[in-house]
Formats: sequence, C-alpha cells, structure tokens
Amino acid sequence: MSSIVLLGSTGSIGVNTLLVAKRFGIGVEVLVCGKNIELLNEQIKEHKPKRVVIADKKDVVKVNHSCVRYGPEAILEAIEEAESTLVVNALVGFLGLRPTLKAIECDKRVALANKESLVASGAFIDTSKIQPIDSEHFGLWYLLQERPVSKMIITASGGAFRDWPLEKLAHATLADTQKHPNWSMGQKITIDSATMVNKMFELLEARWLFGEGQYDAIIETKSLIHALIDFKDGSTTAHFANASMQLPIAYALDAQMDENILAHVDLLKVSSLKFRKIEKERYPIWEIKEDLLQNPYLGVVINAANEAAIEKFITKEIGFMDISHNIIEAYEKFRDAPKSIDDVFVQDAEVRSFVRSAK
Ligand code: NDP
Repeated sequence: MSSIVLLGSTGSIGVNTLLVAKRFGIGVEVLVCGKNIELLNEQIKEHKPKRVVIADKKDVVKVNHSCVRYGPEAILEAIEEAESTLVVNALVGFLGLRPTLKAIECDKRVALANKESLVASGAFIDTSKIQPIDSEHFGLWYLLQERPVSKMIITASGGAFRDWPLEKLAHATLADTQKHPNWSMGQKITIDSATMVNKMFELLEARWLFGEGQYDAIIETKSLIHALIDFKDGSTTAHFANASMQLPIAYALDAQMDENILAHVDLLKVSSLKFRKIEKERYPIWEIKEDLLQNPYLGVVINAANEAAIEKFITKEIGFMDISHNIIEAYEKFRDAPKSIDDVFVQDAEVRSFVRSAK
C-alpha cells in the first residue's frame, strides 16, 4: 500500500500510526486533527501530506500548509477526494461515525480505532471493509481458526480504580480517572476504562465483527493477555503481547509482518498473572452487559448517554459513579432499535438531550 488517510493524527493512536507508517515506508496523503496545531505542524513537516483538515476555522492560519480545511464536512470531502484506499479512523467519539460510513461508501478499507462507530451503528456498517485497531479484537482475530468455538473472552485492565476502596469512587476526579495502570491513551477512553464502559463497547464491537456467539470479559491486571478463546473441545488459547498498540496498527496498515514489532512477553520475568471477575459494585455498567449483548442495536443509546454523561462529569455537574447511572437510566428509557442509519443519528441526539437535562 502506498499511502493512507489518517483521521485523528495528533491523538494517542494517531501518533502511533505515524510511527508505524514511517517504519514501513507508508505515505500519508491526508492528516486530520482537532486543536493540537503545534503537533500537527511537526507531523506535516515529517510526513508531507497533500491535504490537512482541522476542527476550527480560527486555527487555519496557524497551520503550515497550503491546503488546509476545517470542520466535519471537510473531513468527509478529504476522504472522498483521496486516492489512498485505506482510511485510518482514530478520531474519538461519535464524530467518527460519518467518516467511517463515508470511507466505506467510497469503497475504501477502514482501519478502525474509533470504536464508537461500531458501537453506535454496527448493524449498518459493512464490517467486511473494517480492520479493527484494538488489542482485544486483534487478539481474537489472531486466535480464531477453523475449530468450533464456545466462547470468546477479552480482558480488561480494570482501569484507574480497580484497587480503590468502593466508598471512595463517588469522589473520584477527572485527574484520578487518568491514572491508568497499564496504558497511555486519550482522555475519553481512559475514563471509559475506569467505568468499564470501554469493555462493554469492545464486547459489542466483537459481536458485530465476529457475529453472534458467547462473549465475555475478565480482568487481567498486567494487560499481557488481550483475548482468549474457549473452544468446544475444552481447549483454551490465549493471545499474549506486551501492551502496545503498534502491533494491531501494523496489521491494520497491511505492513509486511516479517520483522519483529514488539519484544516478546518474557514469562519468567512476568512470573505470575492475576485474573479477577468484573464486579457490578465497582463497575455498575456491568449490570446491563447481558441485556445489551442480546440487544446490540441499543449500542447507540449507551454511546450517546456515555458521551453526554462524560461531558457532565468533566464540568463537575455529576460525580464519577453517576456516569454509569446516567447511562443505565437512558438505556432503560430508550428501548427502540434504530431501523436505519438515519434513525441512529436521530436517536443519538434524543439520548444526548435526555442525559444533558437529567438531574
Ligand atoms: P485521543 O483523544 O488521544 O485522540 C483523538 C484524536 O481525535 C486527536 O487527534 C484529536 O485532535 C482528534 N479530534 C478530536 N476532535 C476532533 C474534531 N472535532 N475534528 C477533528 N479531529 C478531532 O484518543 P485516542 O487516540 O486514545 O483514541 C482514538 C479512538 O481510538 C477512540 O475511539 C478510542 O476509543 C480508540 N482506541 C484507542 C486506543 C488507545 O490505545 N488510545 C486503543 C483502542 C481504541 P486534537 O488532539 O488535535 O484535538
């Protein structure tokens, strides 16, 4: 592959994608980011994209490039005009859905980190065009073979509060949520990790990517095992890899995998691993896991409610545990499955407005 369109270039996944692209000699035709113009300018210097898209008009003058556009429509135009056949979508949030749909409509492949696309709208996305960028789905994909499966299991780190006393959780601050034990990621996914919403999202994504079946998640505290498969015959296989997104990114970019990407996990150094159940007292969102997996169309509801509740948490309108309570409240109220992609956008707006006005 000669070049890519990279959406979300200044984020955690975007930066790692550029490292992988450089290493494998993959060009970057388009760079898209939000407000981090300083980093964008460094990326422009190094990767020399043909076009650039940013979030706000007022920042255009600060960008060192002759072809700069701004806003969500410009992202869609850049995808449509690009010659590259691969779009890496590393935008955060529901904002990433239209670009995913546009890339597929333009018959491009999508290396998809933006999990909110699949969570909110998995039923209306042609997943044959998608290569997920996530260690858990990468792990499942790596393990799958032509044998009957009884269950697919993904692992969670447990997030920033896995060892906190339960009574302290209600007072956790935004800064506390960002102290992730194993991964360095963007702000929203690190909050989602602390609430365990991130793992719910990944279970839903797995459902859309790999089809109907049994899915579950457990905590593995070192984030060295990312996925396990229970086969019908009684065997269980596990995917081990050190915690780095560069491995799934390299595969999604179709790089030639004949060289080492990561150091192997040294089990003698690791010495022991710990597994824990995901408890509803610590992660109240787990209460709706089974129901959601039976009704995956309702992903649009939990995604919109989560984004709206996180906004309220960031502005200190609600406490940390209220994020999950707000989501569950919305999930109990909005029970109609969207019948089309247009319904997804309508429902997303309704749920956000419900959560924003809830006490
Ligand atoms: P970050 O917050 O680090 O990055 C988000 C990117 O989106 C940034 O480049 C940001 O630009 C850009 N962006 C935000 N708003 C806009 C906008 N209005 N217009 C254009 N660009 C915008 O997130 P992550 O990289 O951590 O995560 C990205 C996605 O990947 C999420 O969906 C996450 O759940 C998923 N993911 C992340 C993993 C990780 O390890 N980080 C692992 C697996 C999945 P700027 O910063 O310049 O404002």
